[in-house]
Amino acid sequence: MPHAYPFLSPEQKKELSDIAQRIVAPGKGILAADESTGSIAKRFQSINAENTEENRRFYRQLLFTADDRIKPCIGGVIFFHETLYQKTDDGKVFPQLIKERGIVVGIKVDKGVVPLAGTNGETTTQGLDGLYERCAQYKKDGADFAKWRCVLKITPTTPSSLAIKENANVLARYASICQMHGIVPIVEPEILPDGDHDLKRCQYVTEKVLAAVYKALSEHHVYLEGTLLKPNMVTAGHSCSHKYTPQEIAMATVTALRRTVPPAVPGITFLSGGQSEEEATLNLNAMNMCPLHRPWAITFSYGRALQASALKAWGGKKENAKACQEEFVKRAVANSAASIGKYASSGEAGKAAGESLFVANHAY
Ligand code: 13P
Repeated sequence: MPHAYPFLSPEQKKELSDIAQRIVAPGKGILAADESTGSIAKRFQSINAENTEENRRFYRQLLFTADDRIKPCIGGVIFFHETLYQKTDDGKVFPQLIKERGIVVGIKVDKGVVPLAGTNGETTTQGLDGLYERCAQYKKDGADFAKWRCVLKITPTTPSSLAIKENANVLARYASICQMHGIVPIVEPEILPDGDHDLKRCQYVTEKVLAAVYKALSEHHVYLEGTLLKPNMVTAGHSCSHKYTPQEIAMATVTALRRTVPPAVPGITFLSGGQSEEEATLNLNAMNMCPLHRPWAITFSYGRALQASALKAWGGKKENAKACQEEFVKRAVANSAASIGKYASSGEAGKAAGESLFVANHAY
């Protein structure tokens, strides 16, 4: 019989659950601004902006200094390592700026995916080496939550049981390391939307993956009240010919979550996974209107679906700063409304709101 030797004091548990609750307080979600230098290169390429350290700093500053309309909408921001140590024009480090705005600072701590030998192109995520020490340092430098992304693929033969087990275990190991340092782990098992599978197949796979993740978290003694889950929505594959409504997507997703995610988890913060801005908002809204009981907050942790219109409006030009911030605010406000089931599409969408943001075999 397994035996747990308590590793968190009541005070440490309270700190973790308070952080998690603040991030997903009603109406709030997460801005994922943790694109690695390689991923932001692709985003910048799409608007013909050069991928320099100064451009990355400038663009992130635009997002972080958007006006106070974002305050009730954004509970947390996920940083990439470089951004955690960059400053505003007037010399304030970004984590300090974010904290002063009442927003929780997060940090991406994984080091990307690597192949799992003997599988059909499946992967695990690396970055455990030195993570204990890195978390201690990140906590000192202002981070109160972290993100680790694992990736699973749907094909006729995947995900394999090896990929499901390995990725669940590495997520649980990461989560336990974070909690030892007072950092709330966001557990992200992303099932990619690549493929032509239908909604049912995605729901089945999502249930199997999430069940394995929560089994592993239990085995690693992870304190669930001090975690957040960042899953994919249950959708049909990107190349599936049948299009499902937001209500169908919401019903399949909430059903899968109810079967696998314990009520002790304070919040589900979805990734947008290549959906258009508008789709991601409508699907989130439908989930929060779905007639099934939901014991957790259901909100957003979007990268592409919060930034696509903002990036386009910026276009790499200083003079477009205001226009960029305006688009970001629009998406933040829309998703905040969707996170409490109160989004009504105004028809007045941003520059990229209806565009698919799908990238095959997406890396982050
Ligand atoms: P997208 O919302 O662009 O899918 O990214 C969110 C994220 O952080 C993936 O790890």
